[in-house]
Amino acid sequence: MNTTPPPELAVRDVTVRFAGLTALDGVSLTVAPGSVHALIGPNGAGKSTCFNVLSGLYRPAAGSVRLGERDLTRLAPHRIAALGVARTFQNILTTEGTVADNLMLGRHALTRAGFAASALRLPHAVREQRTHRARAREIAELTGLAAHFDSPVSLLSYGDRKRVELARALCLEPRVLLLDEPVAGMNGAERARTVEVIQDVRTELGLSTLLVEHDMGLVMRLADEVTVLDFGRRIAHGSPDDVRRDPEVLRAYLGTGGPGEEDAA
Ligand code: ADP
Ligand code: MG
Repeated sequence: MNTTPPPELAVRDVTVRFAGLTALDGVSLTVAPGSVHALIGPNGAGKSTCFNVLSGLYRPAAGSVRLGERDLTRLAPHRIAALGVARTFQNILTTEGTVADNLMLGRHALTRAGFAASALRLPHAVREQRTHRARAREIAELTGLAAHFDSPVSLLSYGDRKRVELARALCLEPRVLLLDEPVAGMNGAERARTVEVIQDVRTELGLSTLLVEHDMGLVMRLADEVTVLDFGRRIAHGSPDDVRRDPEVLRAYLGTGGPGEEDAA
């Protein structure tokens, strides 16, 4: 494991506009080194937009994103990934290849030997591949996928496939992990398993996690700090306990079932 703590991730006054709509309006949040920070809010609040800014897919009209001393605000997605910020997507699941293939794809950005050297199976390239594969297997163990390492992902359960996405993000050796609804659509047992994995990943790899999640029970168990968005604005932040009692938060969730124990949005 990397023993130096991850740098602080600081989002400052970020505004994102789409024709006529302000999806994020001067939003700030700080992910403290090594912490789990939850980003919650009703549907359309701007959570995924915030992730898209953090991973370089959207450029904000105003504001900044910093990782330690580095300014990420206008960097391309691959540069941000190379600086140690990896993400999973809300609605994307792979159907191709084995678990190992998918994890090796995640390692690709870290591979030094070029395509040609790998294709020609030159000794240094073969050695490097072997090292990457060993690390991919460790990550599969950490994420509960070791038994499926050589299985096609198409044969895995839904919960395991969602965790392949998480494992692939971890294969980038990130310092900050962005998880967009990591348990969406999972049953109770799959959720519990994924919560364990997120906790293990934090202790074993010592990274920071920013988590978008609707399940308030899960947020309460996992998060050190919570930021609440509504219509693109930050309406509350603090400990999970503070946030869940906040009158503004209760109002935002009114009629959606509240920030209850299950999918609130
Ligand atoms: P959340 O993830 O919290 O449900 P989103 O960040 O996906 O919310 O969306 C916030 C708002 O921005 C919504 O009103 C959504 O329709 C709008 N939005 C998101 N992405 C785009 C886009 N690429 N073009 C136009 N509107 C968008
Ligand atoms: Mg979303």
